[in-house]
Amino acid sequence: MSKLRAAARSGRGLQQGAGEGRKSPRRCRKNVSSHKGMLPPVSAQQSAYHLFSHPAEIEAFRKNLLAWYDKCKRDLPWRKLAASESDANRRAYAVWVSEIMLQQTQVATVIDYYNRWMQKWPTLQALAKASLEEVNELWAGLGYYSRGKRLQEAAQKVVSELAGQMPATAEELQRLLPGVGRYTAGAIASISYGQATGVVDGNVIRVLCRVRCIGADSSSPAVADRLWDLANALVDPARPGDFNQAMMELGATVCTPRAPLCMECPVKQHCKARCRVEKELEFASRRLLGKAASSCSQAPDIEECAATGSCSLCLPASEPWDSSLGVANFPRRAAKKQPRAERTATCVLERRGPRGQPEYLIVQRPSSGLLAGLWEFPSLALGPGLKEKQQREALLAHVQAWAGEAVARGRLRHVGEVSHVFSHIHQTYVVYSLLLGRDPEMASGWRDEMLERPAFRWVTQAEFQKSAVSTAMKKVWKVCERQNCEGRGSGQVSVSVPCLPRGR
Ligand code: SF4
Repeated sequence: MSKLRAAARSGRGLQQGAGEGRKSPRRCRKNVSSHKGMLPPVSAQQSAYHLFSHPAEIEAFRKNLLAWYDKCKRDLPWRKLAASESDANRRAYAVWVSEIMLQQTQVATVIDYYNRWMQKWPTLQALAKASLEEVNELWAGLGYYSRGKRLQEAAQKVVSELAGQMPATAEELQRLLPGVGRYTAGAIASISYGQATGVVDGNVIRVLCRVRCIGADSSSPAVADRLWDLANALVDPARPGDFNQAMMELGATVCTPRAPLCMECPVKQHCKARCRVEKELEFASRRLLGKAASSCSQAPDIEECAATGSCSLCLPASEPWDSSLGVANFPRRAAKKQPRAERTATCVLERRGPRGQPEYLIVQRPSSGLLAGLWEFPSLALGPGLKEKQQREALLAHVQAWAGEAVARGRLRHVGEVSHVFSHIHQTYVVYSLLLGRDPEMASGWRDEMLERPAFRWVTQAEFQKSAVSTAMKKVWKVCERQNCEGRGSGQVSVSVPCLPRGR
């Protein structure tokens, strides 16, 4: 019976629910686009099961959710600003920055970035004056770097083309501002301007799919449109911003992907997935207690879509309800494409600076494409099947111009490997280091070759940490640092990347 109780508490079935811990709250937002093309028709019979058809139930849902939100919401800096800022433009800007930062990134990570950003650029006008380099520097480590760039471009557009006035409706925000999609537009309009429009992000998808047992692929255009319909039908016209934030908060902290806390859920009485799990558990419990009369030996009478088998919103017949998953049967998504594997050789090139301090070479990436405009150690994409000797030779040829001297292959020291997953690429950096024997700028012949090289600069350790470098490059730095610490005392030649105390 303890397994049954644990399963009931978590909302899961009998196998997976027991013993699962609560994951740290996330608010990763993945926008769901709406496609306005022809949609497959959904009959009234099908819709009735997957929609909220009674106004009284919608009212009760709103009331319960908002009461919970008022009591349990997290204290977050952008919420404070949205609640206290009387200037509508500033309020919208504050919400906008938070929404862009929160896409694909956890709340805990965003808070510090958000505070630093708002301190540096408290207004649209201040952001519009910033350089892309400054934006990249502050954004470094937050990932998906084009978000920061587009935010700044959009701020410049508001200042130069819209007389500094933020658009005030979801439709205009989406139409006029680069980088603002349907989700972000709805969030800004509802939170900052009180427009009664719903939002659909990853957290809201999970909640909606569970409360209405929507098991069809939630990333498909037809299902995405139904979810937007649901969100728009549910949003509270009196408190749209709070309602939308409450839905997202519920998905982030209670209705979590793997360990939902159904017993603590303010909308559990409206949740069809939860209802189904409870009925199954009740049935299993009665059987365990030996009350299995002939009437109880059959599957429980569970409310289902009247059009099961042909409904475009139900679980697909090929992947039916799995009792071991419980409410986590929803949502379902088509299998993600695996990121492609790539390898890159990268070299931490070190020289003595003018005052004898170690300096490291970083070069700027192209202004478009992956990690556009960020700085990195000199790097070279490796073709498939290259042997170690060939890798070294290719990398050496690549860094020769910066080295300013003929460098023997053996001086390139292999440090280790670093893996980093971008959204669509699984990148492995093969890390080398090279300590230069003399000031490379004094060497002859290097300038002509440099003319064809990208922008570069020599930086100290402190400057490297403050530069617009990606998380992957910081990992490369760490590998060098660790190797340097471990190499000391073993007689190995090593770059002098400082050996910092562990845990810093
Ligand atoms: Fe559980 Fe449903 Fe609430 Fe999600 S919405 S926590 S599945 S009761």
